[in-house]
Amino acid sequence: MSYSRILVSFVLISLLWATYPMAHAQDGGQFSQAMQPEFQQDIAAFPDIPQITITASLDITDQQATITGNMEVLYTNVSPDTLSEIVFRLYPNYPSYGGQASVSNVLVNGTTVTPKLDPTVSIISILLPTPLLPSEQTLVTIDFTSTVFAEQTVLYAQYSYLGGNLALPNFFPLLSVYETGVGWWRNVAHPQGDAVYSATANFDVTLTAPAKWVLITSGTRIASTDNADQTRTHHYVAPLMRDFALMASTQYETVSGEQDGIAIDVHYFSGGDEAANTALRFAEDAVRIFNAHFGEYPFAELDVVETRTVAGGIEYPGLVVVQSESWNTQDLYLEIVTVHEVAHQWWYSLVGNDQTRDPWLDESLAQYATVLYFGEVYGPDFQQEFFDSYTDSWQNFSTENGDRVIGLTPSDYEGAAYFSFVYAKGPLFFKFLADTYGQAALIQGLNAYFIAYRYQIATPTDLQSVLEASWEQELDEVFLEWVGQSN
Ligand SMILES: [Zn+2]
Repeated sequence: MSYSRILVSFVLISLLWATYPMAHAQDGGQFSQAMQPEFQQDIAAFPDIPQITITASLDITDQQATITGNMEVLYTNVSPDTLSEIVFRLYPNYPSYGGQASVSNVLVNGTTVTPKLDPTVSIISILLPTPLLPSEQTLVTIDFTSTVFAEQTVLYAQYSYLGGNLALPNFFPLLSVYETGVGWWRNVAHPQGDAVYSATANFDVTLTAPAKWVLITSGTRIASTDNADQTRTHHYVAPLMRDFALMASTQYETVSGEQDGIAIDVHYFSGGDEAANTALRFAEDAVRIFNAHFGEYPFAELDVVETRTVAGGIEYPGLVVVQSESWNTQDLYLEIVTVHEVAHQWWYSLVGNDQTRDPWLDESLAQYATVLYFGEVYGPDFQQEFFDSYTDSWQNFSTENGDRVIGLTPSDYEGAAYFSFVYAKGPLFFKFLADTYGQAALIQGLNAYFIAYRYQIATPTDLQSVLEASWEQELDEVFLEWVGQSN
């Protein structure tokens, strides 16, 4: 390259720098601290996933808690489509969350834009000043505020401030999912089940909160600093995760364990140590069994957190919550819920799916995994009791109301139908596959599905294709009969 061309290049680069604001560079070395050593290379294998940097602070009073912050999203268009907009979701504004969230000061590559909000104020559409071509990058920055009101229980109290316990999943504008040829996901229905559909990203999150509050989050905390004003600033990294969840309380105590190199922490309210130690054993056994059956959990850490949810439990990447109501050693539900939610680390968190369209894909697999656990830990008779109870639940409902397939949306199932088909008939579909094609073949097929789609998004079609390839069997008929759709 000649001298003058170097000069021209330099001028061009300077111009680009001048017009294109730099994202806060994320430190890949820090991200690796959240992965087990043998999976640190996975970060480099997904260079084009969104890079999300959040800086926020919590202001907590007896009446409410507010998180105010800024988010930077470096987004690469990995689809073959040219994008005219980028869509984010504000879950706290869902009636089922009962909170309040807003955004301001939205910039695209440094240019102020006015986002469009839908009537539910849960979909933020950001029109791009210039269309984003395939493989091009754009930087979106957003200021946000999310509020949760004390002592209000809506639906599952998923997003809540009850008895001094803050549950703040989806507290920031969460990037929606762009589906090639279809468009941005904009479903707002949340009659029951899970509300969120999101893609894997790298999260770098800095949170400042009153020092006496214990914060539990997805990912790994890499630093904490005490500030002069009685607050503490925590720095977290959560690479290769499809969400970043936050739970907090002044009451949390922790017991720590380990399984296959993964740090497992159980966080519980004072007085719950006996159940916490039991829950830790359940989580360790579940991780051991699911690692062996489906493939390894790649993250360095997994948190099990007692909260005041009324859902039994709820899954988030790297973090599961279990309801306080079942936090005692006499309650079999503590074991069922802990194991079910841990299973979601494989089915939902690592292998993602649209939980609002195909909830069976993660729920039925989490249920089936739970039965596998009970078989491994307590033997085949106990396992059979689980299958029998699922059969009863499905049959009792079907006899009175008619049979349904498992592959419908939460809105399609009214009330008890959702459990009867997605949570009871669903795992029996996998039992049917095991009985028909062999238990070992099913586990091998699920392992292949996990390896092919971890950190990504799968559809029922993908599961069918992987199982068909693994077994060299055509499964159209069985998928049509049980799921209601086939390839
Ligand atoms: Zn579940």
